[in-house]
Amino acid sequence: MVVDGAGTPASGPADILIRGNRIAEIVWLDPVAVAEGRARRPVAATEIDATGKYVLPGLINGHGHVQDERGGRPQPVDYERKLWLASGITSVREVGSPSTQKVIDLRERSEKGEVASPRIFVYARFGASPEPQTAEAARLRVRELKRMGVDGIKTVGIDRDVMTALLGEAHKAGLRVAHHAGVEETNAWDDIRLGTTSIEHWYGIPDAAIADGVQNFPPAYNYNNEVDRFRYAGRLWREADPAKLLTVLDGMVAKNVAWVPTLDIYEASRDLLRAQRQPWFDDYLHPTLEEYFRPNPRNHGSYFLGWTSTDETFWKENYRIWMNALSEFSRRGGLIGTGEDAGFIYQLYGFALIRELELHQEAGFNPIKVIQHATSNNAKILGRESDLGRVKTGYLADLIVVDGNPLENLKVLYPTGVETIVGGKAVKSGGVQWTIKDGIPYNGPALLAEVKEIVWAARQTAGKP
Ligand SMILES: [Zn+2]
Repeated sequence: MVVDGAGTPASGPADILIRGNRIAEIVWLDPVAVAEGRARRPVAATEIDATGKYVLPGLINGHGHVQDERGGRPQPVDYERKLWLASGITSVREVGSPSTQKVIDLRERSEKGEVASPRIFVYARFGASPEPQTAEAARLRVRELKRMGVDGIKTVGIDRDVMTALLGEAHKAGLRVAHHAGVEETNAWDDIRLGTTSIEHWYGIPDAAIADGVQNFPPAYNYNNEVDRFRYAGRLWREADPAKLLTVLDGMVAKNVAWVPTLDIYEASRDLLRAQRQPWFDDYLHPTLEEYFRPNPRNHGSYFLGWTSTDETFWKENYRIWMNALSEFSRRGGLIGTGEDAGFIYQLYGFALIRELELHQEAGFNPIKVIQHATSNNAKILGRESDLGRVKTGYLADLIVVDGNPLENLKVLYPTGVETIVGGKAVKSGGVQWTIKDGIPYNGPALLAEVKEIVWAARQTAGKP
């Protein structure tokens, strides 16, 4: 069965013929003829029997970070890459790593097939210090990044003058821009005016719709204190004026500003215990990441010191308004993508993107639309809608073979699968069986077993088996 990624219904059965790294042909079959063994089917040198399975375009992680350390401790990159592939991710839009050059090198090695990794799209980070904060310095930096060969730029925390210069130069250089739209001098109106490719997360959207222009912060609030910042972020959506908000969303639609909300990365704020005790942590949480997740003001996103039921209640309301805004944005013609932002706030690479998909369903989207967000919509945000994100002849052979129907239950996409009751007994099924990237098949369960080995070996070394 094929789910194309274009928002169209599932159909099948079909045989998908891959030649080199492209989808050469999709042969639609007559199910009766298949059952009777008289269907005319293509012959290939290598075949994957996907009888009873669902085939989707490889998932695109629209907001990922390549991380080889957490909190100063090393973490193997193959741990992360294998988790991504095992979760059906064939492309990652990398939106900021301490070393842009390292990510460019990984992109090259992935392209050559030298390393088991999703495709990497490099969006170099341009933020506050150490980047120089003048318009001219921003233009120079954009040109330098263009020469390095990046695919785009991710901005965070810069003022309006610098943002204006940066966007202008990026457009000239043909670079896309992802904006981590925080509560800062700029808000979504600047993205609309300057032509940002995508708004990451969300803050700048409700912030642009506050009647008095500024959120009602308590006097002692300090933006650089993460407990303050995340606590009061939970009270931001309620302050947005509903009518003004619709104007902002319409503005984004009119200027093709896409939205990658990363709903998953804030989930701990509305349900801390759930976030801290995810079942896959038992076997797949690297001790370096485990340590990083512990509440600690030194580590970004590890702000859960004195987190209260009141905070969670505000955040639950925050999610309701946020999710309504997302479905409103989509209904008005807005482009929504999916990204995980894992490696922070209890989100584990790969698993986090599947959780993001579930949250898009919770926001009101039909699973067919959710799959579209994670495939062809993300391809569009990357500017690669002509060869990525679809099960379509001539497109790159990035496909996943899933044990189960994700349109019935998105949880079948989790690498660890699901349990169902068959004949009174619990039976394990689900998971991405094969992740095919650039025509190369990777076996999901084998990758997952390798990740388990990496984690267990690291735990031995760390002295906590
Ligand atoms: Zn991020």
